[in-house]
Amino acid sequence: MLGLMSDFPLLLHRIIDHAAKFHGERKVITRSVEGPIVETNYAQIRARSLRVAQRLERDGIKLGDRVATLAWNTWRHLETWYGILGIGAIYHTVNPRLFPDQIIWIVNHAEDRMMFVDITFVPLLEKIADKLPSIEKYIVLTDAAHMPQTTLKNAVPYEEWLAEADGDFQWRQFDENTAAGMCYTSGTTGNPKGVLYSHRSNVLHSFIAGLPDSKNLASSDVCMPVVPLFHANGWSLAFSTPMVGATLVLPGAKMDGASIYELLDTYKVTFTAAVPTIWLMLLQDLEKTGAKLPHLKRVVIGGSACPRAMTKTFQENYGVEVVHAWGMTEMSPLGSLCTMKPEYAKLTGDARLDVQMKQGHPPFGVDMKITDDAGKELPWDGKTFGRLKVRGPAVAKGYYKVDSDAVFEEDGWFDTGDVATMDQYGYMQITDRAKDVIKSGGEWISTIDLENLAVGHPKVAEAAAIGVEHPKWDERPLLVIVLKKGETATREDILGFMQGKVAKWWMPDDVVFVDEIPHTATGKIQKMTLRKQFEGYRLPGVEAAE
Ligand code: AMP
Repeated sequence: MLGLMSDFPLLLHRIIDHAAKFHGERKVITRSVEGPIVETNYAQIRARSLRVAQRLERDGIKLGDRVATLAWNTWRHLETWYGILGIGAIYHTVNPRLFPDQIIWIVNHAEDRMMFVDITFVPLLEKIADKLPSIEKYIVLTDAAHMPQTTLKNAVPYEEWLAEADGDFQWRQFDENTAAGMCYTSGTTGNPKGVLYSHRSNVLHSFIAGLPDSKNLASSDVCMPVVPLFHANGWSLAFSTPMVGATLVLPGAKMDGASIYELLDTYKVTFTAAVPTIWLMLLQDLEKTGAKLPHLKRVVIGGSACPRAMTKTFQENYGVEVVHAWGMTEMSPLGSLCTMKPEYAKLTGDARLDVQMKQGHPPFGVDMKITDDAGKELPWDGKTFGRLKVRGPAVAKGYYKVDSDAVFEEDGWFDTGDVATMDQYGYMQITDRAKDVIKSGGEWISTIDLENLAVGHPKVAEAAAIGVEHPKWDERPLLVIVLKKGETATREDILGFMQGKVAKWWMPDDVVFVDEIPHTATGKIQKMTLRKQFEGYRLPGVEAAE
């Protein structure tokens, strides 16, 4: 027997309809790429998104077509997402920080028909446009007054293009499983892989993301997604914020500490989210100016492990609660968040920070387990590491135009490629990427643990641990360090600081100081490049083992 409930397909444009109808006056504030602050609201965003949809149809874009965006977080970018998905076309966010060759590969693989692009990225695109044959037209996200001279094919300023539609238009109707969006993983090996979100998966994910033990968003919040829309589906903020009717503040192209602080302060932002690198810049700026964060309540930090010192500084110096989060492009992207369950709620000081180093527990909608290489489930004792596997309605079941991939297991689980522990209360902690873990004498050493510990040293700005070949142990840890500006330190200083805080056999065999550690386009340490850089590195004492 079927339930007797209404048929209300979970279509994403219903979110902006809801925001416009019930929170229509709520502000959407942007630091525009051109410079000035621009204020609009959800009612206007919806009205202009309908014009985007209408105008796209006039350009021949139809159900299933891919439309790329190469843009910062702005109100215009948000309008293009809703306009594209509202006719059943697919928004495809391209990460401008990728190498030009990767952008070419991704756009050709997705066969994007049009591209919305910020003025900032026009020069970058002009250099590669002849290698992007599928793109018929470029819409530059600006007005006629700011339109740059460009050789891009059929380039028009967005505002002029949009003015040609009157907005007398209805969203198209289609099945809730229709594809809505696309994002390629920044994969450090092989070609990037396309993840294809559906309307249904994104709507469900948006509910999941807003829950109290997730981002805990409400209409009374002022939410600033610093994480770009092109990073892992924008961490769902383009959907979960209008879904609850929270005020939205969009930082545009400026992500330095001073610019971020200015928006946090001026607009009394209560909630924000980004990768650790962004917060490092903000905290350095605050330290310099002595400014405080009286309005900010919560900051979600993920994308890579949040250093303990960062959590401590936010909480103890500024009274801002840190929510450490983990996720992946393939998971829409949220997988777990470290909010305090009653079992941990009473902890204070270091014991609380210990828990906050974990990536947290999954909300309903994400199922999780750890297994050994043979697929056998491992115990939740907070110590045993295993392969982290997940499943759920917003977890990918395949990659775009890839026949099969071993990461999608037959029983519906997705092998994340991360290695993690689970504790007795269901808190997960990432210890490594499976391909980065250091294998020493048949045992595994967590590079994340070593890095977290090293960045606790007051002179260390960034640290990366990698496995270096060893004749006796297979691999041993080498610690690569970038010191804070103007600081000096020796190998002995660093090792002395780490001594006693980590198992003896986990201690790095050597420490090297470098000016810079290589990063991927989403701010993660490029371990593969580092390993290449230190290939054949002779650790002290290897002669004795040979
Ligand atoms: P991406 O799809 O680009 O967001 O990358 C996902 C990967 O980033 C995950 O599989 C993890 O390896 C890593 N990651 C994300 N969040 C965290 C976190 N909080 N701590 C450690 N690693 C993380």
